[in-house]
Amino acid sequence: MRAYNFNAGPAAIPLEVLERAQKELVNFNNTGMSVMELSHRSKDYEEVHNRANALLRELLGIPDTYEVLFLQGGASLQFSMIPMNFLQENKTAHYILSGSWSEKALKEAKAFGETRILASSKEENYSRIPTDYSLEDIKDGAYLHITSNNTIFGTQWNEYPTSPIPLIADMSSDILCKEIDVEKFSLIYAGAQKNLGPSGVTVVIVKKDFLETARPNVPTILKYSTHADNNSLYNTPPTFAIYMLSLVLEWVKEQGGVKAIQKVNEEKAGYIYSAIDESEGFYKAHATEDSRSLMNITFTLPNEELTKKFLQEAKERQFIGLAGHRSVGGCRASAYNAVPKESCLALANFMTEFKNKNS
Ligand code: PMP
Repeated sequence: MRAYNFNAGPAAIPLEVLERAQKELVNFNNTGMSVMELSHRSKDYEEVHNRANALLRELLGIPDTYEVLFLQGGASLQFSMIPMNFLQENKTAHYILSGSWSEKALKEAKAFGETRILASSKEENYSRIPTDYSLEDIKDGAYLHITSNNTIFGTQWNEYPTSPIPLIADMSSDILCKEIDVEKFSLIYAGAQKNLGPSGVTVVIVKKDFLETARPNVPTILKYSTHADNNSLYNTPPTFAIYMLSLVLEWVKEQGGVKAIQKVNEEKAGYIYSAIDESEGFYKAHATEDSRSLMNITFTLPNEELTKKFLQEAKERQFIGLAGHRSVGGCRASAYNAVPKESCLALANFMTEFKNKNS
C-alpha cells in the first residue's frame, strides 16, 4: 500500500514512473544492463539525456535563446555559483527575501561582492511575498534574485517582478507546477527532488546572452559555460537522476502538460485550503491569502497538544510528512505535482473530521 506522501522533499514521485523504472531497471532498452550501468558517452544514455532536455523545453516553452543544464550540488550550490559567475566587481546583487532559502542564497552572495536586500517579509515571519519595493533604483544592479516558492513558509509568487536587470529565480519547489513566462528570467534553477524526480540533479535554465556576461575567473566545473558548451556532459552527470527526470517529464506530458497539471494543483490545494477556511478558526493558514502556495500548505492548530494529536492520528492513517518546519511550527502539507488528488481530498476530509471531534 502506498502512503499519502506529503513530504516536502524528497517527495512523492508518480507511481507510473516508479513502476516503469522498476520494469526497465535491469535491462534498459535491450542493452542488457541498467541505465545506471551505461556509459555516459553511449548513444543509449545520450538519448535519455537529450530527451529530458527536449521535454523540459517543450513543457515550459523554453526558447532556443536559453540553455538547459543538468548540474549537481543541489540548489544550494546555485546559491554560490550565481554570484561567482554573475556578480561583477563594481555591481550590486539585489535579493528579495521571502524565506529561509532566500536568506541562504543571499548569505552566499555576500562572499563574492556587494549585495542589497531590496525587500523582505522577515518581520512578518515570512507570511507573505514582499510587495513594498521599487525597481526604479536597481538599474545598475548585477541581478535580482527571488525565491518563487517558499517551501518552509508556504508562500508563492503570483506575479513575478518585471525587472530592469537580469531576474534570477530559485524555483526548486514550484517548477512545472504552473505555466510561467520563461522570458521574464535570465536564470531559473531548481533541485529535482520536489517536482522533477529524485534528488541528485539540479536543473538550470539560463539565457545565452546572460551567460556571456559571466566573470572569467571561475573554476572550470563551476562555470555555467563549461556545462553549456558540453551539453551537461563535461564530467559524469547523475545519469540515473536524469533518467528519472525524463520519465517524470514524460508523465507530465501524458497528464496534458503544465496547464493541465496547474488545474489539478489548484483543485488539490483548494481542498486543503477549504478545510482550513471552513474550520471556524480551528486551523489557521500561515500564509496571507494573496501569497498562498499551491505546493506547500502551512497551517497551525489551536495549541501544541492538538498539533501533536493531529500528527499522531494522521500518521496512523498513513498521512506522512505533515509536521511543519520548526521555524513555522504547526503543520505543512506539500502537494507537489505527483501527489494524487485523492490524497489531498483524503487529507482535507481527515482535517475536517479531526476538527469536528476536537473543537
Ligand atoms: N531552495 C528551495 C526553495 C528549497 O526548498 C530547497 C530545499 N528544500 C533548497 C533551495 C535547497 O535545495 P538542495 O537541498 O537541493 O540544495
